[in-house]
Amino acid sequence: MHPKIDMHSHIMPERLPDWADKFGYDGFIHLVHHKPGFARMMQGEKFFREIASNCWEPGLRIREYDTHGTQVQVVCTIPVLFSYWAKPADGLDISMFLNDHLAEICSLYPRHYIGLATVPMQDTDLAIQELERCKKLGLPGIQIGSNINNKNLSEPEFMPIYEACESLGLAIMVHPWNMMGKGDMEKYWLPWLVGMPAETSRAACSMIFSGVFEKYPRLRVCFSHAGGSFLPTIGRIAHGYECRPDLVAVDNPVHPRSYLGKFWVDSITHDPLLLEYVLKLQGSKRVCLGSDYPFPLGDLDIGKFIEEMDLPSNVKEDIFVNATLEWLDLKAEDFFESKHEERSDRKSIAQQSER
Ligand SMILES: [Zn+2]
Repeated sequence: MHPKIDMHSHIMPERLPDWADKFGYDGFIHLVHHKPGFARMMQGEKFFREIASNCWEPGLRIREYDTHGTQVQVVCTIPVLFSYWAKPADGLDISMFLNDHLAEICSLYPRHYIGLATVPMQDTDLAIQELERCKKLGLPGIQIGSNINNKNLSEPEFMPIYEACESLGLAIMVHPWNMMGKGDMEKYWLPWLVGMPAETSRAACSMIFSGVFEKYPRLRVCFSHAGGSFLPTIGRIAHGYECRPDLVAVDNPVHPRSYLGKFWVDSITHDPLLLEYVLKLQGSKRVCLGSDYPFPLGDLDIGKFIEEMDLPSNVKEDIFVNATLEWLDLKAEDFFESKHEERSDRKSIAQQSER
């Protein structure tokens, strides 16, 4: 079995402050530990979801990951905790609390955990302030939502944040949340099955068409869930760009297909055929193993379907390790023993950096 880094998983602290009490208004996530090993996530008085101790217990998670042959977890908060809707100073307070928790886990288990910070995207200056602090904490990137309080990632107010990420060398993971049309399609779990892939495409199109990748060419961005519906509908998106440039190419003249293989996506497709297609478009150095652990819609066998696919060993090594290391600008030797199978990883990473 190949060594593995899972670049898409969620973690949270076992205990959260009483933010509603602290800030004087409601709507924040809090936890009710109603039975051993489980807790109810509550949004104000509304039940959001039940979680188990593998959502907060780092040692237990390492043991569970070990059963799937996965050594390293890239962890970030659960999007419902972004709290972009809160007052900016309170959003900063929440971000700092969550980021300190991530940094603590990473310092306790440096070979098993890599943390992606959250920042108060509702306030550009405070977001950059927290970015700079997270850089000092040693977190190599951030996770942001696919929209920020329904504003698209193309808005001018987000450009200084991308610029700061580029200059600080911080990677960005874009995660779908706050799904469009949610109120119109609650039945059948449609916000998660239909809304999430559309959200990620919304984010990718917004960043591409507003020229984010032209303005900040060294910015390293990964789109969750294999880019959502962006890659499966790239033909339509490209055709739209060609037939109605007056609508599509108003801020960036570059063809959307030219960005394929420039950003990263994760492998969460639940479908070998789709993953083959994604690999064809992106190349194996731009497809990272992801799981969405520990949530039920995730690939909770953590890349087992990829192990079983008839792919060359070097392609699997790229997906399982190299793509994520390059995205986060990290080195294999910080996580893996110098065993036989890891030596080839390090060699190919050294080759990449020589280019
Ligand atoms: Zn996720």
